[in-house]
Amino acid sequence: MPYYNAAMKQETIKQILQKTESIGETLTVPGWVRTKRDTKEIAFIALNDGSCMGNIQVIADKDKIDDKTLHRLTTGASCAVTGTLVESPAKGQAVEIQADSIEILGDCPADYPLQKKRHSMEFLREIGHLRARTNTFGAVARIRNAMTQAIHSYFQENDFFNVHTPIITASDCEGAGEMFQVTTLPFHTFDGSKGVDYSRDFFGKQASLTVSGQLSAETYATAMGRVYTFGPTFRAENSNTSRHLAEFWMVEPEMCFCDINGNMDLAEEFLKYVLSYVLENCEEDMQFFNKFVQKGIIEDLKAVINADFTRISYTKAVEDLEASAVKFEYPVSWGIDLASEHEKYLTEKVYNGPVIITDYPKEIKAFYMKLNEDGKTVRAMDVLVPRLGEIIGGSERENNYDTLVDRIKDAGLNEEDYWWYLDLRKYGSVPHAGFGLGFERLILYVTGMANIRDVIPYARSARNCEF
Ligand code: ATP
Ligand code: MN
Repeated sequence: MPYYNAAMKQETIKQILQKTESIGETLTVPGWVRTKRDTKEIAFIALNDGSCMGNIQVIADKDKIDDKTLHRLTTGASCAVTGTLVESPAKGQAVEIQADSIEILGDCPADYPLQKKRHSMEFLREIGHLRARTNTFGAVARIRNAMTQAIHSYFQENDFFNVHTPIITASDCEGAGEMFQVTTLPFHTFDGSKGVDYSRDFFGKQASLTVSGQLSAETYATAMGRVYTFGPTFRAENSNTSRHLAEFWMVEPEMCFCDINGNMDLAEEFLKYVLSYVLENCEEDMQFFNKFVQKGIIEDLKAVINADFTRISYTKAVEDLEASAVKFEYPVSWGIDLASEHEKYLTEKVYNGPVIITDYPKEIKAFYMKLNEDGKTVRAMDVLVPRLGEIIGGSERENNYDTLVDRIKDAGLNEEDYWWYLDLRKYGSVPHAGFGLGFERLILYVTGMANIRDVIPYARSARNCEF
């Protein structure tokens, strides 16, 4: 049977929908029934195989297809339709299939949860194993796939090497977030009064899931010039926000011979590249988001691609916020960490587009960020966007050995734990910089989806790890 062809000869519905030159050809199309509509003589079946949002319309003549088969073609049922590709008289599609025979592959009983056209996101989260079959989640998955491709293309075209940094780490890295512990110790027999003897643990010391690949990426950057990691990161974030996951994917480029300005240029060019790629390659799915999820998002993204990102210092950002008439939940003064309400205000109300904020107070940023001459601020750069706030956090790195030692101590960390990281500053230290982009935050931005749990196939957050 053709649809079991292992050499990928079976055409997808995406391909078939474009085969206007093959009118009259006989072919077999496997897929799932989205809807079925009956007249006296004909059944119209919308068939989808996931390759694109569009369905192919199947015309099932009741003379040719028996009642029993038609009866079994319920929403969600799988089948393989063999028939002739014909020009479609209907609007919105060039071709359709005139069925000669339909083979049922799998029935779909009436308790199938996806009968209705529209379901709430909350309900769909409870059926995470089925939600990819909806238009919304199919589109998100295809866009996520295209963005993955765009990210690799961008870096590969610009001479970055992809490095797989470790998932399990023994360094309490950067304190970027609460870490998940990795252990084989029998914690069910744990006696809290005695403390934990980690020398008996699998690695002979305490180990965790990584919160960022950056420090490891730096070791490769300082050998290969330009590298990037793109992998899962883990933070035991207890906050239940629409922008935080416990497991999320992060894109982290790291570049030698580069300062904070080069870093900002890269972030801006990179974001624009990914946005352009999605608009060019995911037109159908983007039209869906534009129409049903976030009206006007295509125009918004085009405007972002064509405009320069605003670049301001943290000090200026604080001045802008202080000058505002808005009463923020978290009051503003120099030294505070910007909350998402502040970030949204700056991007949506003051600058109306992405904003890069630089030179944050050293107290609220990680120890590895390069100290400015003022001794008070570091060369950090966060990229903020409307609707979301922060999507990128980055910096020029401290490349002076002694300053870095001081910063490690000031942060209350152990100098000895960072011996290998310090070595990078001891042997041929160079100016270098990089950033971390939360992949799911970028998908939220591109699609207009409201909750980060809906742009990753399987969301992990506090008290939520089903499927
Ligand atoms: P936030 O203040 O929003 O929690 P952060 O300052 O902790 O972010 P960084 O440590 O700079 O974030 O991480 C780099 C990027 O990773 C962020 O800009 C964001 O896009 C993403 N990110 C951070 N934490 C999460 C999370 N829990 N879930 C999803 N993405 C995240
Ligand atoms: Mn955080």
